[in-house]
Amino acid sequence: MDLGEVRLVEPSPALAANAPGSPAQGRVEGAQRDVVALGIATASIIMFVGNGGTVLSQAIRSWMGVDRPPDQMLVNALLLNVALLIFGWRRYVDLMREVEERRHAEEQACLLALTDPLTGCLNRRSVGPATDGLLALAREGSSAVAILLFDLDNFKNVNDVSGHRAGDALLSAIAARTQAALPAGSVLARLGGDEFAAAVPFDPARPEAVDRIAETLIREAAQGLEHEGVLIETTLSVGIASSDRIDGGDGVIDAQLLLHNADIAMYHAKKAGRNRHHWFEPEMANELRLRSELETGIRRGLGRGEFVPYYEQQIDLESGDLVGFEMLARWNSPSLGLVGPDIFIPIAEEIGVIAEMSEQLIAQALRDAAEWDPALTLSVNISPIQLRDPWFAQRILRLLVEANFPPSRLEIEITESCLHENVGLVQSLVTSLKNQGIAISLDDFGTGYSSLTQLQTLPFDRIKIDRSFVTSLGSSAESAPIVETIASLGKRMSLPITAEGIETREALEALRAYGKLKGQGYLYGRPVEAAKVRDLLAERGLLLHDPQRDTLLDLRPAREDAPDKASGTHG
Ligand code: C2E
Ligand code: CA
Ligand code: CA
Repeated sequence: MDLGEVRLVEPSPALAANAPGSPAQGRVEGAQRDVVALGIATASIIMFVGNGGTVLSQAIRSWMGVDRPPDQMLVNALLLNVALLIFGWRRYVDLMREVEERRHAEEQACLLALTDPLTGCLNRRSVGPATDGLLALAREGSSAVAILLFDLDNFKNVNDVSGHRAGDALLSAIAARTQAALPAGSVLARLGGDEFAAAVPFDPARPEAVDRIAETLIREAAQGLEHEGVLIETTLSVGIASSDRIDGGDGVIDAQLLLHNADIAMYHAKKAGRNRHHWFEPEMANELRLRSELETGIRRGLGRGEFVPYYEQQIDLESGDLVGFEMLARWNSPSLGLVGPDIFIPIAEEIGVIAEMSEQLIAQALRDAAEWDPALTLSVNISPIQLRDPWFAQRILRLLVEANFPPSRLEIEITESCLHENVGLVQSLVTSLKNQGIAISLDDFGTGYSSLTQLQTLPFDRIKIDRSFVTSLGSSAESAPIVETIASLGKRMSLPITAEGIETREALEALRAYGKLKGQGYLYGRPVEAAKVRDLLAERGLLLHDPQRDTLLDLRPAREDAPDKASGTHG
């Protein structure tokens, strides 16, 4: 197959003829009506010849005085005949014009049904048959077909920030640049939104030709587009699947399968950091299957209460006293066992169930903590997604009211990544939470990019030094200056500090030198479930309700905000 010249892609005639409502169908109807008009015209011509011969010869003979004038009936019949002839001819001409207009309109409709009006590419409906056509051709020769599926990495952003007209202009530019980069015989389709697929015939001995096309697409996209004086920047991710690399199982390799595999490969390209291309590999499908099993498991687990809070001790490093707990989510999965949040939180965020999950967990944690000594605080982690909800503060307050839990005992941890979102909304949420007496701490400090300005504009109550710096205190020379800097920053801004990830005595000793800090880490114990927390607190006389004696303990001062009776979850 000749890959030398570039061809602009249009729907093939065969494709057009096969589509429902195609011109072919219209032409049949038009032709039927032509036949009727033509029949009338033909009949009147025959009658005209028959009648005309008799009447005209009689008329000539009568004019020469040889015969009497033609019969009046025959003359009338001839005149009627002429009228019919004119009518038939007019009708025939009208019909021809009508048929032509109809054919044109139907061709337009067909083109619209098979192409994308914005970019002129094929669409989702027509890309399948067109690719199957290429696959059939490839099978005849010894070539292969690769599908390059791609979409823009930040298209929603472009629409949101620069407007839909800019988005459309960008899509058109990407389509045009892609068409220019594709070899002859290729097919380009816009599948919808910002997703495109190109089917490219290639020599299976030279797959690098396909890599080069993908690289060109990525390079071209990276140039962005200047629209109304503003440069719109974008990148794209490409997934590639080719007919020579896959086994269709039952031996069927069709457009559907190639598109599906290319989609999986594109998902991987995105996950690997976007702005790149990836070839499909069978293991990717397994990974995707696992991922979809996780999604189903998470949805099901939410309904079955499989997500449970674990608790990690928080200590006053100076006195060594227990001051509270951080709640950390765990998934008690029936098939996978105990699963950590690093696995399921990102998925819960992606599939839109993070708020529901978080509220379940917080509600349970409030019930658990209601049994603890009221001097102990409870910290909970909040996903950036939850802070996009203008009603977030109200939701938290509702949970507090339902659990009859004093807001002053609750601390909400948000990470630096929240600050890159809608700062205005985050600011108003933080303010209304603080007005209710809830404390806000900035989690994982040092790993994000929060500026001092952001630290000042958002009224945090505490910063938590990320565990990566604390854990390596004593072993890595770089950590100490970072921790020291953060500690002195906290002092200057009057922000108390928690150090997380304290694993060793050395780290603890090093931290003590930086002033009055709170701390947490494996040195004090791993996160444990509610029952273990209760045992630990019972040992230390820090349970509000003594399960053995079933009476209220005589607790230390600061009792005012204690719930008047412990909730009934313990046995
Ligand atoms: P994080 O907020 O930084 O939580 C601390 C993590 O460090 C926990 O991991 C904890 O088990 C671990 N850790 C504690 N002490 C040490 C130590 O001494 N050394 C080391 N190496 N690690 C220590 P975990 O429980 O796996 O949680 C991971 C992350 O998941 C948390 O990081 C938090 O960002 C997120 N997360 C946990 N629960 C929730 C939740 O309910 N909602 C949301 N949105 N995120 C959560
Ligand atoms: Ca945290
Ligand atoms: Ca943290």
